[in-house]
Amino acid sequence: MKLALVGIGKIAVDQHVPSIAASDDWDLAATVSRNGTVEGVEAFTDLGQMLEARPDIRVISLCLPPVPRFAAAMQALEAGRHVMLEKPPGATLAECHALEAKARASGLSLYATWHSREADMVGAAKAWLRDKALKSLQVTWKEDVRRWHPGQAWIWEPGGMGVLDPGINALSIVTEILPDEIHVTSATLEVPENCQTPIAATVDFHHPGGARVTAVMDWRHEDTQTWEIVAETDGGTLTLADGGARMTVDGAETGEAAALSGEYPRLYANMASLVGRGGVDMDLRPMTLVADILALGRRDSVAAFED
Ligand code: NAP
Repeated sequence: MKLALVGIGKIAVDQHVPSIAASDDWDLAATVSRNGTVEGVEAFTDLGQMLEARPDIRVISLCLPPVPRFAAAMQALEAGRHVMLEKPPGATLAECHALEAKARASGLSLYATWHSREADMVGAAKAWLRDKALKSLQVTWKEDVRRWHPGQAWIWEPGGMGVLDPGINALSIVTEILPDEIHVTSATLEVPENCQTPIAATVDFHHPGGARVTAVMDWRHEDTQTWEIVAETDGGTLTLADGGARMTVDGAETGEAAALSGEYPRLYANMASLVGRGGVDMDLRPMTLVADILALGRRDSVAAFED
């Protein structure tokens, strides 16, 4: 299938372009970006022009930041195209619901991707937790914002989510692997005095079985990068490390890696299958948790952030 990639920035170049190139399902037929291009691929700077000029391209993959994404997604759906959304699927829940309603009414596929759910050990962790009673779960997501989001002003603006932009990846895994639904009870947000979004957050969640579920997210870690989820249960302690790529139970490496390696190749395989069966996949639970963290979070002003 021919596909157009919109928003040629860091994640498009690092992950989408190589994953599409390595896939038998997809042919990268056009890009839409004001500044970015991909060598050898027809480049447009305006989405409307591309949709008009290339009716043969049936699938649009959006790698824009969350705020401009809704307008682009709706434009593509209105033009009768299937749409794949980078995470988070939008800037607000209401706009995600509107996109889903439009896709369903039009018989088009819409995919809210969560790349961290495709990490090697997430499926094994979900299977292991299925018959255990959870006692506690702790998310630790500590990384260096300058390394992963260099020069990205949008991330500090309203709708950019700040540290909850990577934090939502952890929440996408938690909502996938836990058999029970959790919700936010309280949060603290550390917001640099010159920014609109948090550089660090701590969160407490309600778990229906009474387990203590917490998260710490912090963007001020230049050395060790930690993306870890530790779940203590009646059957042992599971640790998902490296963003879901590694799993241990009581300290011993375990789990079978899935055959297709890499998060983004799996996302594109999922999209090919979704389009093939005319499906919609819009799980908004990670986004709901982030919206609630932002709604309930106590804001503390901290030192200005200079990129
Ligand atoms: P980025 O490097 O800033 O790239 C986004 C691109 O979108 C820009 O290069 C820009 O290209 C285009 N764009 C169009 N309208 C824009 C606007 N109003 N403001 C800024 N850029 C605009 O961002 P990214 O890191 O690739 O992130 C894009 C999405 O991918 C985000 O939702 C993010 O959460 C997700 N993501 C990022 C990472 C990561 O590690 N960075 C990992 C996974 C997912 P033109 O100027 O050429 O139009």
